[in-house]
Amino acid sequence: MNVQLLLVEDDPDMADLLSQLLEFEGFTVTHAASIAAAKKALAQPLQLALLDVGLPDGNGFDLLRDIREHHPKLPVIMLTARGEAMDRVLGLELGADDYLPKPFETRELTARIRAVLRRASPEEIQTDSVVSIDTRRREARLRDQVLDLTGAEFDLLTLLIQHTPEPVSKDDLSEQALGKPLGPFDRAVDVHISRLRKKLGEGDESPKIVAIRNRGYQWLEPA
Ligand code: CA
Repeated sequence: MNVQLLLVEDDPDMADLLSQLLEFEGFTVTHAASIAAAKKALAQPLQLALLDVGLPDGNGFDLLRDIREHHPKLPVIMLTARGEAMDRVLGLELGADDYLPKPFETRELTARIRAVLRRASPEEIQTDSVVSIDTRRREARLRDQVLDLTGAEFDLLTLLIQHTPEPVSKDDLSEQALGKPLGPFDRAVDVHISRLRKKLGEGDESPKIVAIRNRGYQWLEPA
């Protein structure tokens, strides 16, 4: 899934490094170096904010208060150089979803981001499909039977079902489910879709994923 992150960090080296690492992990990063810039950036749709504490025009906790007031559902992870327990308690009391003291490993940060996003997302996507989708557990069931899917297959399936009855372009499937732009001669989406079809079954009672020329793939419920 394409995830838009806001990174509020005034140290330019740290901001560059984190932006690059997070983009490498498939996130889209908007960087703000001050509270004022962060408030402007918050006008765009975002899935999560990472907040440094020491900022040139105030501190991250003030920004956190502001976010809780105006964007109550936006998940927030606080990043701070100060290790005192008080910071952690203050951050969590003010409604941060998690807290990570610097220095941290990138893997730790991306694991925390994914965990927070999982908790924040709705548990189950309600559709009229024969497939039910639980995004928190990342589990899909075809008529009560749990499907054994890879992460990419799960994301592709979710996108296709969410967009029914419209097809989803290969560009969107690649970017949003595989986390990378579709390249020339890129067959990755087609390969995942073909595996997904096998797992869904091929009889008349199975849902179908149909290729639509020049438009991508479309989800079809069994008749
Ligand atoms: Ca700082």
